[in-house]
Amino acid sequence: MLGHVLLAASGSRLVRRSVSGFPLTRRVVDRFVAGESVPEAREAILRLREAGLSVTVDHLGEETRDAGDATAITKAYLTLLEELGPLELGGAAEVSVKLSAVGQALDEDLALENARAICAGAAAAGATVTLDMEDHTTVDSTLRILRELRRDHPSTGVAVQAYLYRSEDDCRALAHEGSRVRLVKGAYREPASVAHQGKAAVDKAYVRCLRILMEGQGYPMVATHDDRLISITELLADRHGRSRGDYEYQMLYGIRTDRQEALAGAGHTVRVYVPYGDDWYGYFMRRLAERPANVAFFLRALGGK
Ligand code: FAD
Repeated sequence: MLGHVLLAASGSRLVRRSVSGFPLTRRVVDRFVAGESVPEAREAILRLREAGLSVTVDHLGEETRDAGDATAITKAYLTLLEELGPLELGGAAEVSVKLSAVGQALDEDLALENARAICAGAAAAGATVTLDMEDHTTVDSTLRILRELRRDHPSTGVAVQAYLYRSEDDCRALAHEGSRVRLVKGAYREPASVAHQGKAAVDKAYVRCLRILMEGQGYPMVATHDDRLISITELLADRHGRSRGDYEYQMLYGIRTDRQEALAGAGHTVRVYVPYGDDWYGYFMRRLAERPANVAFFLRALGGK
């Protein structure tokens, strides 16, 4: 219930203004966001690398309503990639892109053109790109853009949200050789007409999608903090003869850091999603919605404790 309220608030401009303007909010946001600037993100990336973790970096922003803003976000990615290149992170570096940040809601061709520029910048920096998945109305467009990008940049990956009824079919279509698929539970407020509701149903759907990806020929990126799903991934990897380099785990910056390091210590590739930038509101509200304890933490910080 609280999660639904927070997800509704994540789309409210009024709540965004009040929450963003509150000075103490920043302290709480810092738990989930690696700073506002590229140098701050760079520092966080180097710290994670020292701990043996790979990264996928997100320049925060979504639902851009202006072509100029979409271009500015594209340029921000290119600047970020220029900084990442000399770090020589190799396969350890990736960027995550929300197509709505680079113009998807304005014009699909504009988003494709901007995403192409980011893929070219990533290739020059020796990095890869994965497309985030946003609300269900954007899935067909995102998969169309993915197909176009993969013509020149076949390593481009995409997130698939297990909570959508359609996702088992999408996983089947994407489980081919060379395909990189990040499986997530899904973080948006979706109606029962398109998505499973409730943790048990979503978890079961996740396992069905995971089975398809692990059986397939692609590279599954298992993005979850859920221990049960991590155990099931290990069973499926054994069953399908996948060794540790044939799939990876992904988790969010600031969430279950101990688990990230333990998996990496056991020889797994663990990629941490590192968001940075000043447009953190939507991202932050989705993290609060995922876990009521985060709201208590937030309220305590607002109270100065
Ligand atoms: P849950 O059942 O939510 O959580 C399992 C356990 O993990 C919890 O018990 C708790 O211990 C811990 N945990 C989970 N979330 C939090 C939190 N916010 N704070 C503290 N502890 C927490 N969603 C999309 O819709 N589109 C995307 O493109 C997308 N990309 C993602 C990329 C990565 C790398 C990851 C890890 C997630 C991404 N998500 C995306 C979010 C995802 O959909 C889920 O909302 C989120 O991962 C929580 O689900 P869970 O699998 O961890 O399971």
